[in-house]
Amino acid sequence: MSVKVRFAPSPTGMLHVGNARTALMTWLFARSQGGRFLLRIDDTDPERSKVEYELAIEDSLMWLGLNWDEKANQKDRLARYQEQIAKLQEAGRIYPCYETPEELGLMRKTLLSRSKPPIYDRAALSLTDAQISKYEAEGRRPHWRFKLNHEPIEWNDHIRGEVKFNGGDLSDPVVIREDGSPLYHLCSVIDDIDFDITHIIRGEDHVSNTATHIQMFEALGAVPPEFAHNALISDAEGGKLSKRLGSLSIRDLREIEGLEAMAVSSLLARLGTSDPIEAYTSLEPLVESFALSKFSRASAKFDPAEIFRLNAKIIHDTPFEAVNVRLAEIGLPDLDEEFWDAVKANLEKISDIKDWWSVANGPVQPVIEEPDFIAQAATLLPEPPWSPETWSQWTSAVKEETGRKGKQLFMPLRQAITGMDHGPELDKLLLLIGPDKVKERLSTKKAA
Ligand code: GLU
Repeated sequence: MSVKVRFAPSPTGMLHVGNARTALMTWLFARSQGGRFLLRIDDTDPERSKVEYELAIEDSLMWLGLNWDEKANQKDRLARYQEQIAKLQEAGRIYPCYETPEELGLMRKTLLSRSKPPIYDRAALSLTDAQISKYEAEGRRPHWRFKLNHEPIEWNDHIRGEVKFNGGDLSDPVVIREDGSPLYHLCSVIDDIDFDITHIIRGEDHVSNTATHIQMFEALGAVPPEFAHNALISDAEGGKLSKRLGSLSIRDLREIEGLEAMAVSSLLARLGTSDPIEAYTSLEPLVESFALSKFSRASAKFDPAEIFRLNAKIIHDTPFEAVNVRLAEIGLPDLDEEFWDAVKANLEKISDIKDWWSVANGPVQPVIEEPDFIAQAATLLPEPPWSPETWSQWTSAVKEETGRKGKQLFMPLRQAITGMDHGPELDKLLLLIGPDKVKERLSTKKAA
């Protein structure tokens, strides 16, 4: 059987971490099975759906490297939905209801106050023609519900295992709004049938929807696809994601935090699985090791600090040719391979390199706490041309003259030359700064 999956975002906001994880899982599943990946935009709600969000979601998916083989917009398929709706109306599987939102809210409250589940009571099914005419005369327009069969609904979920519902324990879902526009549930099922979707991977917040969807597939004469519901992401302590984390979008991670796409994917692909979280520089190893069965039912703990840790590892493994265009984009077109190789081990994210570029090129405020020692060291500085050995030649000479060693020897030199007390290896940094600037910094008088 050839596999086909879809990722179905609603373009009502940016792509957030949780949805990106579902997209990634869906994509990895498709690629690991040699299957196809459909991007379906769930844009039947004209008020909340925005083209700019659709474009931003696509942009985020592309940045993550999640390419799609096919794309569909639900707003282009309204005529098709009407055809299928007509069939369900004819078969009596959807029925008109006239309750107002206020009436429904009240019914719900009453049931809950009696400790009863808030299941719709199907009062609409016993309306007389006279009552319907009265409602119509009042200007009420019906919304439509799908009539669930009161029978067991079961499926073998690729992540959750055996899942069982009873149709009688669920409310008949509303599938058409008062204005006649079809809602997510039915459109989604019609699309999944028409696009030959074999597996639906989505968040566990959709589990009870799936129970109703299975009956919709059957009512439309289709065999339901397979399902996998991934556990939602929680914070590092297992609690609900905070507002800040919950609203963290892929665009924020890219633009505000300056992170690598593969740091994000390396974490999201393994979160909540039995595989270790490791820094990868391409999606391939994640495709190769992907299996839905590795995902746990328990919520996946998300700690953004881990993305930064992975990001640093990825940067440390990145060769110059993979970053030179981006370095030019961040305003460092003259930065060369020697510079990149000297400082990359000190970067957590690529933009950190700007700090080291400033250290090398100035201006730098040298930190000189022991002016006599620095003055003495300055007299021992080897003459140019300098080589990779210059640093060790110089520090050996200083050691011999002053008797200093270890931190006492190196730290004051580092502080004088870079103005900082940590950073890249000084043998390399010395060459990047160059003889003129090193001399100048060593001879700087301590600020009064
Ligand atoms: N648009 C729905 C959502 O974002 C799609 C769910 C599904 O995958 O069916 O929740």
